[in-house]
Amino acid sequence: MSQVQDLQVKIEQYLSFESCNIHTWCSGCGDLGILNAIIRALVLENIAPHECLLCFDVGCNGNASDKITANTIHGLHGRVISLAAGCAIGNDSLPIIATGGDGATFSEGINHLVHGVRNNYNMVFVCHNNSNYGLTTGQASATTRKGQVMNGTPGEVVSDPLNPAEIVLSLNPSFVARGFSGDVEHLADLIRKGLNHKGFAFIEVLQVCPTYNKATPQNWYWPRLKKVEEIENYDNTNIWQARKIASDLDNQIAIGLLYHNPNKEEFLSIQQNRQNRKTPLVDEVSVFDISKLIQEFK
Ligand code: SF4
Repeated sequence: MSQVQDLQVKIEQYLSFESCNIHTWCSGCGDLGILNAIIRALVLENIAPHECLLCFDVGCNGNASDKITANTIHGLHGRVISLAAGCAIGNDSLPIIATGGDGATFSEGINHLVHGVRNNYNMVFVCHNNSNYGLTTGQASATTRKGQVMNGTPGEVVSDPLNPAEIVLSLNPSFVARGFSGDVEHLADLIRKGLNHKGFAFIEVLQVCPTYNKATPQNWYWPRLKKVEEIENYDNTNIWQARKIASDLDNQIAIGLLYHNPNKEEFLSIQQNRQNRKTPLVDEVSVFDISKLIQEFK
């Protein structure tokens, strides 16, 4: 196949994910770049819309669920990881990408994040970190910078922000990356790496929200971003090096695959009752007659 034909096929594959619904995101929103990166990654991995599952949390990011043609689930606020984990356990051959915002992931659903990382469920989790609750008009989240004035915090935010990548790196993870919503090609590459990882691939995306987060627009990020692949001798198998480099969110902000441990066992692979099973759980579900059980409750 010539390069032109190959490009034509890729464009057609990309368009097969496009939905006819018009998006409702604000002009310049980072969600557009992130959705673009997710589709690019799937296309470049030759995964068709019917061959993957995309799980969405509540938030501006979750509005992507009807902007894309694929198998999609839109779950409850903060619960997308547990939802995606159930799907991953049911069908471990299905590529799963779950997305959630910083609010859902580091407040309402932080318990699910902790156990998602701990159990190493097989999925790519993309955390849209725009440092506020955009969908509900710009309230402070756990990652909003100290001193910012937000809706609902008319004085200013007085607590220190959480650092998502640093927190996940403290949980003995298997894959931690950080990308930027404005660098779609780089982010798509990180998502592809996540799709090829067996286990919980955590990808924090520094996302611009021009409507409600005025403190960190595109031109604030660009001069501060540093790709770890361009840092001489950076070893992404060294968790202490990853923890050190992830800590700076002000001056030199590291993006790229910060940490990778492909040897941590994925959840299903260590279940005794799944040993030597060739088929996914979803193919083994039997039909049970529950009519007698229903009678008991009548
Ligand atoms: Fe995007 Fe922010 Fe608008 Fe939400 S509020 S759509 S995150 S720019």
